[in-house]
Amino acid sequence: MRAPCAVVRWLKILDLAVTHLSTRTIAGALKKTNPVDHRSSHVCHTDPVLGAATRAGPLLPPIDQWG
Ligand SMILES: [Zn+2]
Repeated sequence: MRAPCAVVRWLKILDLAVTHLSTRTIAGALKKTNPVDHRSSHVCHTDPVLGAATRAGPLLPPIDQWG
């Protein structure tokens, strides 16, 4: 079963947060993405490439020092 789009999109950001400990990297990636609406393509048909640390960790951890 494929994860819904929101989970796939979140996992891509989470992978950045886990592999790049820089809030600037994450902020840059978020700025580059297009807003999601009903015309957006379904990323749930793809398998995001995730690091081992991301795959081993919880789905919804805090991703910055403020939690
Ligand atoms: Zn989808």
